[in-house]
Amino acid sequence: MDRLGRALRAQLVELIDELTPGADLGLLFLDEPNVADWHEPLRYSYSAVFRGERPEGVGAADVASRAADQLSPAGWDIAGPQEEIDGTKRTYVLTARRPDGTRIEVRTGDHNSAVLYSGQTPALALREPEEFQWPEPVRTPETLTPGCVLCYECDGLGACHGCGGRGWVPSEPRGRSNCRQCGGQRVCPICRGGGQLAVFRLSPYQLTYYPELSQ
Ligand SMILES: [Zn+2]
Ligand SMILES: [Zn+2]
Repeated sequence: MDRLGRALRAQLVELIDELTPGADLGLLFLDEPNVADWHEPLRYSYSAVFRGERPEGVGAADVASRAADQLSPAGWDIAGPQEEIDGTKRTYVLTARRPDGTRIEVRTGDHNSAVLYSGQTPALALREPEEFQWPEPVRTPETLTPGCVLCYECDGLGACHGCGGRGWVPSEPRGRSNCRQCGGQRVCPICRGGGQLAVFRLSPYQLTYYPELSQ
């Protein structure tokens, strides 16, 4: 994984130096892998976006085909440059892919001098999938503080009972979404994680959950 990130960075540096010399490569951030796929187990990839400027007198089509000339002998499968036309703007897009799944895209058009580079390593899992362990309750009838009752919402769990304390729930298509019950706070919204409620603080509405208290 780190090797893929370093290889991508090296190739981007070479490409940027060649096509847009003088660009500030200190701005090429490729330090940490980010989550690329939120399905379990999470998949990570290195990715970077960089903007360079074409030297004066060099056309966009020329830059795009030189990118192909440089990447092709280095083992990249090249697609393009393809022309994308949006009104009067003509953009050349070159995509390159390595057998390991790393991708680079170079995008530039004659309407301005920008050359946009983007690169991404394939998304890889960093660990084996693990089955989620539902947490143990923080309070049980045996461990209640005197004068308290088990929280009617979570029944002593303390953690949010919608998500089990993860703050998210599995969902499609992204793989995860924020837990609506706790809003990502992870704890039960009623007892704030304590698992129990003081009887003297219960509202008349909350008391209806505890018919035994009014007997
Ligand atoms: Zn939740
Ligand atoms: Zn609760």
